Amino acid sequence: MDRLDHFMARANAGYYATHDPYSDFTTAPEISQVFGELLGLWAAVVWEQMARPVPVVLAEAGPGRGTLMADALRALRQAAPDFAAALRLVLIESSPRLRALQAERLPDATWIDSVADLPPSPFILFANEFLDALPIRHFVRRGTGWTERFVGDGRFHERPAAAPPNLPPAAEGQVMEIGEAARSVAAALAGRVVAHGGAALIIDYGPASFAPGESLQALRGRQPADPLARPGEADLTAHVDFGAMADAATAAGAAVHGPLAQGKFLTRLGLYPRSHALARGAGPARAAALIEAAQRLAEPDRMGSLFKALALCPPALPTPPGFEP
Ligand code: SAH
Repeated sequence: MDRLDHFMARANAGYYATHDPYSDFTTAPEISQVFGELLGLWAAVVWEQMARPVPVVLAEAGPGRGTLMADALRALRQAAPDFAAALRLVLIESSPRLRALQAERLPDATWIDSVADLPPSPFILFANEFLDALPIRHFVRRGTGWTERFVGDGRFHERPAAAPPNLPPAAEGQVMEIGEAARSVAAALAGRVVAHGGAALIIDYGPASFAPGESLQALRGRQPADPLARPGEADLTAHVDFGAMADAATAAGAAVHGPLAQGKFLTRLGLYPRSHALARGAGPARAAALIEAAQRLAEPDRMGSLFKALALCPPALPTPPGFEP
C-alpha cells in the first residue's frame, strides 16, 4: 500500500519513461507555435528588465517534446540576438525517453533532474503543464479529525493522519487535495529568483485560490481512465492550486505576479496579431487552423480561463510583460 503521492510519483515516472504522452494529451505549445514564440519574447523583455545579465540561463521544467523551447528560441533569435547569444539552455527532465526527444530539437541544451540542480546564476524559467504532473496528497475529514488516502489493490484506503495546518472547515467525508511537491517547487524557484535574479513563469490549469475537493485524473488514449488502475499506463494529473503557489513563493521572498487567466495573458502578449500575421502568409487551411488554435488557447470556455499564468520575480524587478494591472 502506497500513500497517494508516492503512488502518483511512481505511476508518472513509469508512464513518462515508457509512453509518448502526446498520444494521450495535447498541450498549448503543440496547439500553436505562437505560444512558444510569445514566451520567448516575454523572456527577452524580462532579460532587459534584469539589466541584461551575461550569461543567463534559459530553463524549462518538463519540456515534453521541446516544442515550446524550439519556438521560443526561433522567435528570440530574430527579435533579441543579444539575449540569444547570452543564454545557456537548461532543461529539467526526469524521463530519459523525453530527454532523447528533446535532444533532437534542442541539441545545445544541458539536462538536469530537478529545480534544485539549477546552476547558481540569473535565470528565466518556463514551466508549462509541469506542476500538474507532480504528486498530490488527499486528506479526508472523518469525525473531528482527518485521514489520509493510500492506494492498494486499485482503490483508496484511509489511515488516520495529522492533516497539514490551515485547512478550511470541512464537512464529513470532504476531501482536501494538497500539492506538496508543487509547493516545494514554487518555493525553490522563488528562493532562486531572489538569490540569483531572474523570473519563473508558471502556466498550468487549476483554481486561483484553494478549493476543497479532488481533481486527480488519468488520461489513457485521450480518454479519462481510472487513476488507480494500471499505474504507469496513464498520465496522472491534478489541478494546480495557484493560491498555494503564490503563498509558497511569497513566503520565500519573491514578488508574485498573477495568477492571470491564460487567455488574458496571451492576448496581452499579442496572440491574435501574431496569429493573423502568420495566417496571412499561409494557405487557407493553415490560416484557419492558426486562428482556431489561438481561439482554443484564449477563449474562456476553452483553455483561456482554467489555464493561468503566474510569474515569480525578485521584488525589485519591474512587472513582467502581460502582468500589468
Ligand atoms: N511542458 C510540456 C510537457 C508537459 S508533460 C508541454 O507543454 O507540452 C510533463 C513534462 O514534465 C514531461 O516532460 C515529463 O517527463 C516531465 N516531468 C514530470 N514529472 C517530472 C519530475 N518530477 N521531474 C522532472 N520532470 C518531470
